[in-house]
Amino acid sequence: MPKIVEIPDTITVGELAAKLDIEVIQLITELVKNGVMATVNDSIDFETAEIILGELDLEDTTLVRGEEEETDDSPKRPERDSQAEADRPPVVAVMGHVDHGKTTLLDAIRDAKEVEGEAGGITQHISAYQVDHDGRSITFLDTPGHEAFTSLRQHGAYLTDLVVLVVAADDGVKPQTLEAIKYAEKAGVKIMVAINKTDKTGANVNRVMQELAENNLNPEAWGGDTVMVEVSALKKQGIDKLLEMILLVTDVEELKADSVGPAAGVVIEGHMETGRGAVVTVLVEHGQLKKGDIISAGQAFGKVRTLEDHTGEHIKSAGPSTPATITGLKLLPNFGVLFKVHASEKAAKAEADKNQLESASGQIASTGSELLAQIHKDRSSKELPVLVKADVRGSMTSVVDSLQALGRDSEVSVRIVGSGVGSIKESDIAQASAGHAIIYGFNVDMPANVKRSALQEEVPVRLYKIIYELIDNAKEELETLLEPDVVEEDIGRLIVKGVFKTTKSEIICGGEVTKGKVKPGVLVKILRDKEEIGQAVVSTVQKNQIEAEEVVKGEMCGLQLATEVKVNIKEEDRLEFFTRETVKRKLSR
Ligand code: GDP
Repeated sequence: MPKIVEIPDTITVGELAAKLDIEVIQLITELVKNGVMATVNDSIDFETAEIILGELDLEDTTLVRGEEEETDDSPKRPERDSQAEADRPPVVAVMGHVDHGKTTLLDAIRDAKEVEGEAGGITQHISAYQVDHDGRSITFLDTPGHEAFTSLRQHGAYLTDLVVLVVAADDGVKPQTLEAIKYAEKAGVKIMVAINKTDKTGANVNRVMQELAENNLNPEAWGGDTVMVEVSALKKQGIDKLLEMILLVTDVEELKADSVGPAAGVVIEGHMETGRGAVVTVLVEHGQLKKGDIISAGQAFGKVRTLEDHTGEHIKSAGPSTPATITGLKLLPNFGVLFKVHASEKAAKAEADKNQLESASGQIASTGSELLAQIHKDRSSKELPVLVKADVRGSMTSVVDSLQALGRDSEVSVRIVGSGVGSIKESDIAQASAGHAIIYGFNVDMPANVKRSALQEEVPVRLYKIIYELIDNAKEELETLLEPDVVEEDIGRLIVKGVFKTTKSEIICGGEVTKGKVKPGVLVKILRDKEEIGQAVVSTVQKNQIEAEEVVKGEMCGLQLATEVKVNIKEEDRLEFFTRETVKRKLSR
């Protein structure tokens, strides 16, 4: 007969043996075999109990936790002891159309609110930060873009409490604005609007509100229920008001979480650093994450060796809605996976192994690297993803800072997907490949086997010993992302003296060149009384009924023009001949 045994999150060895109806000594022996030194009164956690059960040949017995069975593919906020529930800061994601000012807004909020001069003046860019307003905290996910947001949601981490939708007042609702609305609605997350760029001359707040109202976001000012705040991220105007409204809007939700139990949450960033290993940023969802905790995170596990807050300060523990950077994991976990604290390393390893198996059998919809690739795909036309390796921390920081300074005032920029100290490793190749990044190495080498992987994965690796050469190369790469300039040059004019044929695709006419010259292959504007009535390409030019290379001012000629639509050209119309070239743009620096 199959038997279901219900046990709590933790249980003493003695109690478990009783529930399983086996000898305590049998259980202890099995625990010891699995590396868990426990006596009859020691507690073990649910995961450990499950593993031991597997080893005990009790196939007919199934363990369940409390009353509900855990389903791992859609992690839910576990029901917690309400005694331990405390208010937690809201977690806010910023979304919106490209160039509407998401990054500028996130920077403005951080700059306005963060204590200056932290971590020796080097602001480490991590994927979430916290600010204080009126003595209360707000957590911002610093990864604008709906892919990052939805990826996290897909992983069942119910992370975001509010979406701040950024809409530029001079541009209005655009395709990605609508997409963001759709995503937030699908995820059931409240939307608040930041109408940005209100400092610009073309700003039209009313039009933006109108367009939003047409898309179901009715401004509170008009009696609807969507809060809209006017800001200028660039001029840092309206930031306090925005923060105040964020708190007001999220207060309605009464956000609470267990703030004392073992922590669980989600991985929001990770990269390898030589000397530190896997450096992973997590967002704690509930409980307290402490230095020394044993955690699993997707396929990775380990003991939290160092724990830092979003400014790089060492901290003892991190509570709900708090981003924290940890080291100590033996592998780099994927973006978006859940982490949790276990009672023993054995249990953490078992969880990591289980996750690996699930991932290998395709039960997890998408891997972290795919998610990262998605994120970068959207940005690929504007951003150059780069992974930096350098010989020492100082030079790494210099390289990263110089790269980030590139294109600061243009529409393209460098995005650092990872950085570290030491030679280039397999894990760097994997990370760069996932993020479609170029690896820049400064004063570091690359072993032959890593080089082979780089070739195989088609990851460009560029090694430099002189910093400005490295930066120049990155600058050239960025310049390829700039839309080229279009340069037109006038080369001549003609007055039409006779029209012989006009069809949809062809005009045959003749006239006198009054300025410059005309030759086959150039473009032509057809003007009547100074107004352009069509454009064409000169197919052939004839002088005295013979095809000519060019005809110059003062001469008569016959022309065959190729058109895309019918242009009813007439005598006395003017033709202006010009050439059009696309010119690669340069970054000013
Ligand atoms: P994102 O693509 O949404 O992250 O947009 P960015 O933050 O990169 O901003 C795009 C451009 O708009 C940059 O050149 C910003 O300087 C500019 N910008 C952002 N916010 C404002 C603003 O409030 N006023 C003005 N005038 N420009 C802004």
